[in-house]
Amino acid sequence: MDNGFRKIGVIDYQKSKYANLFIIGSFVLSISVGAIIIVLSDSTSNNILKGQWILLGCLCYIIIHESVHLIFMKIFSKERLCLSLKFPTISVGSNGKFSKRQFIIIALAPVVILGVVLALLITFCSESYKFVLSILLILNFAGSGGDYLQVFEMRKYSMDTFFQDNSIETSIYKKK
Ligand SMILES: [Zn+2]
Repeated sequence: MDNGFRKIGVIDYQKSKYANLFIIGSFVLSISVGAIIIVLSDSTSNNILKGQWILLGCLCYIIIHESVHLIFMKIFSKERLCLSLKFPTISVGSNGKFSKRQFIIIALAPVVILGVVLALLITFCSESYKFVLSILLILNFAGSGGDYLQVFEMRKYSMDTFFQDNSIETSIYKKK
């Protein structure tokens, strides 16, 4: 099947010694910075949305985040997409082989695009929605530790390397 490609290795993120550093580190850092901003901006006092709406917002955020990964995978490759659900995490993958540049775009597109969209919404929306949008912005940066880790683990591979992520591990290929 994989004519033209030679498999040279696999990245197992669970075995990475940086996994906890990235996932827990980005979580703690984003929540701390976010909490300080929320307190300083006093956005809780104008908040009109109840807890269930915030939870629903978080759920929508996660679905949109994963969809952005999938959209970019589909843009770069026509191969079949896959999805793995291991509560509480959901991750998506594709049978396509992506160049290093494409793989970096796929990994970072959600955190960058949704980060910009949420920052714009916070700037221009009414005071009453700033709190819930700030929570989603924190979730954006806090929940993307796995994506940062993916990009970080690619650092040792050259630009002519190809990556295939089945949503559990990433296989590494070179052109024959
Ligand atoms: Zn992601």
